Amino acid sequence: MKQRIVLLGPPASGKGTQAELLVSSFGIPHVSTGALLRVECANGTSVGKEADRWTSQGLLVPDELAIRLITIWIAEHGTKFLFDGFPRTVAQAESLDTALAALRAPLDLVIVLELGEEEICRRIASRLSCLHCGATFSCMLNSLKVGDMCLRCGEKLLRRTDDQPAAVEKRLESYRELTFPVIGYYERTAPELIHRVDASMESDAVFSEICELIRS
Ligand SMILES: [Zn+2]
Repeated sequence: MKQRIVLLGPPASGKGTQAELLVSSFGIPHVSTGALLRVECANGTSVGKEADRWTSQGLLVPDELAIRLITIWIAEHGTKFLFDGFPRTVAQAESLDTALAALRAPLDLVIVLELGEEEICRRIASRLSCLHCGATFSCMLNSLKVGDMCLRCGEKLLRRTDDQPAAVEKRLESYRELTFPVIGYYERTAPELIHRVDASMESDAVFSEICELIRS
């Protein structure tokens, strides 16, 4: 079974949803740099304040900050992981390879969720999030609005600052310019590890494809 996994994909391609399903089925620890950073922001730490200056504008946090967070995580939790939202740049991918090589624990699977930009924008425009439990809901599917209760934990739902329209365009730009090349990086350095999955399918169908990749 694969247990050192990177999950790549544009905003709203369902990375968080798939990661949750994978955690409950396989017990692989899920690490999202976005979620790690949101916890830091909510706690008002200096890392959080530093990160918020970037993410609230839809910009990626600097490589050095993302790498610092992940390195700390690996030191504390070990080398079984599902990374979601990391690496976001080729420099981060290179740093991750170096760190894992030193631990003799190289990546064993890179999953790319593919989704067109029209569908990305449609999904984000209707997305509400719970910062307490991390759940996201479509306001169209669930007839919800900002301030309603999270269907899972009862906390208030809101629109993430990085889901505001101005930030979304910047996130897509960042994805095209910085993260898309990460896919090329893995195609060059580890073509046997990389697998693409059509993220426009229902999340259950996406999940069963990913399960096969993890078990194979
Ligand atoms: Zn919740």
